[in-house]
Amino acid sequence: MERTLVMIKPDGVQRNLIGKVISIFEEKGLRVVALKKVKLSKEQAKQFYVVHKERPFFESLTDYMSSGPVVAMVLEGEQAIKRVREIMGATDPKEAQEGTIRKLFAIDKEKNTVHGSDSPESAAKEIPFFFSEYELLSAE
Ligand code: UDP
Repeated sequence: MERTLVMIKPDGVQRNLIGKVISIFEEKGLRVVALKKVKLSKEQAKQFYVVHKERPFFESLTDYMSSGPVVAMVLEGEQAIKRVREIMGATDPKEAQEGTIRKLFAIDKEKNTVHGSDSPESAAKEIPFFFSEYELLSAE
């Protein structure tokens, strides 16, 4: 059993897609073990995406990620990290496979509706960014 950090980004929250996005993950057998809606400050967005701090899109990305509320959640399941990445689809919706969340809902390469941890190391940093241990509740 594995856990991963998923975020519904501001474009998804703003367009009322919270339920639709969570349903897609649940239908694929992933389980919500923690969930909250928060608004990141610019500083928090920079901290969350610090691995990208040298990239040309960093300023724009962190402005966007602090522009409105996000929904953060921890999902649990077999190979949750890899499966969530498959269900989300490619970063750029133009390259995303049919049926993926980003193909269905993303606006562009930046406003791409969802985030999912890309490795066990990322999940181990991203889960405590939003949640303390006592907020993580497995369903079974
Ligand atoms: N991003 C962007 N422009 C790019 C690449 C990425 O605005 O050229 C944004 C996009 O929101 C993406 C996030 O930065 O989801 C993190 O980039 P990463 O390459 O880690 O993509 P992901 O793992 O989210 O698919």
